[in-house]
Amino acid sequence: MNEFEYGIIGGGPAGYTCGIELAMKGHSVVLFEKDKIGGTCLNKGCIPTKSLLHISESYKQATKAFDYGINLEVQGIDFAKINEYKNKVVQKIGKSLEAAVKNSGVNIVYANASIKDNHTIIADNSEYKVENIIFAGGAKPKSIKGLEYDGNFVLNSDDVLNLESLPKSVLIIGSGAIGIEWARIFSNFGVNVIITELAPHLCPMADIDISKRVERIFKQNKINYYLNTFVETFENKQVILSNGQKITVDFILIACGREPIKPKFNNLTVLGDSCGEVQLAHFAIHQAKAYVSNENFDKTLVPSVIYGSPEIAWVGMRGQDCDENCSSSMLPIAFLGKAWCDDSTDGFIKLIVKDGKIKGASIISNEASALIHEVLIAIQNNLTIDDLKQVCFAHPTYSEGIYEVTCRL
Ligand SMILES: Cc1cc2nc3c(=O)[nH]c(=O)nc-3n(C[C@H](O)[C@H](O)[C@H](O)COP(=O)(O)OP(=O)(O)OC[C@H]3O[C@@H](n4cnc5c(N)ncnc54)[C@H](O)[C@@H]3O)c2cc1C
Repeated sequence: MNEFEYGIIGGGPAGYTCGIELAMKGHSVVLFEKDKIGGTCLNKGCIPTKSLLHISESYKQATKAFDYGINLEVQGIDFAKINEYKNKVVQKIGKSLEAAVKNSGVNIVYANASIKDNHTIIADNSEYKVENIIFAGGAKPKSIKGLEYDGNFVLNSDDVLNLESLPKSVLIIGSGAIGIEWARIFSNFGVNVIITELAPHLCPMADIDISKRVERIFKQNKINYYLNTFVETFENKQVILSNGQKITVDFILIACGREPIKPKFNNLTVLGDSCGEVQLAHFAIHQAKAYVSNENFDKTLVPSVIYGSPEIAWVGMRGQDCDENCSSSMLPIAFLGKAWCDDSTDGFIKLIVKDGKIKGASIISNEASALIHEVLIAIQNNLTIDDLKQVCFAHPTYSEGIYEVTCRL
């Protein structure tokens, strides 16, 4: 009999977390996934892009090895092997994840699911009777009118993962996390990258100081960008921008956000990207856990991270959110011995304080993805600058930069 307490549509971070948590509490759960368990995050997002970023950075490091006294001859790139590595990482995690979901007691049905009514899901020509339906169907790449995806010249973030060789040049539309990470991947591999951004700055969601620093670093790395600019039209690989500039590229990658996939029924529980709130895997996971445990969580304290060198991360208040009661201080990463050892001195740690309490951080540095959590824990626990000053930070580390900023506040 196909009867369950919970029917979950979507096996991404929101869906599988919700399923595992419910099953561990003793509920009967059926989870429908039309593609692969792990969703966008594992198969088309977080994991494959970070694998490629890792390889591209290894390549860039190898080309610089001579500067460090290592006599290495880099003979080129085997893109098929690069893809093989990326795919292996995804498969390995996918296998463990599937086992974890099954072992928790969740029944997985690999099929496209549709909702018949509030208690009936149809998949693979079978009806599933459930007490509760949870929709976690994710989001899809947004498209731009006049620049429809064709899988050939106009690509989205799914298409670009299936490249069989590296382009010589690429135009990336949008400079959010996906655009910045792909710009870094391509640029590390020596591809000529051009970005167009509609906003007046790159990384428009970040603290303005982060945006300006990314712009400076991109200039140094010869990643070209046009701000306040959009694509007017294109023909035969020639693209005309709104500023009149004409550029010729191998393809366009559109990275201008993702559109939530909404269920047809209104009164269902919706989790993850489908909600159209924060479209991040850890938000989806945390939200699913909060749903199952019936607890609230502070949605303003969800960290954002953009990967690559140097990493970019922020949480809580940004410079543009401050009022006259806030103060902020910024430590250049070049102040830290570890940054010099690592030959990575461009960046800063910025803290925002209100009434003596830490309220926000914006970091651009090696290890920013880890550092941001030190500050997040401080914010979440209402710690003051003096509390942080009492912590004995190890030397040489990037973490001691947090101590140094507190001394300047
Ligand atoms: C290129 C890229 C890079 C990213 N990098 C990061 C990152 O570094 N960090 C981060 O936090 N986030 C990142 N994200 C965002 C992250 O992937 C999403 O926020 C996360 O996957 C959302 O989880 P979800 O469960 O809501 O949806 P999804 O992961 O999209 O999962 C939804 C699942 O539902 C399935 N589904 C949909 N409809 C049906 C149906 N009718 N029947 C059956 N199954 C169905 C889909 O096949 C899919 O597997 C990235 C995204 C992209 C595109």
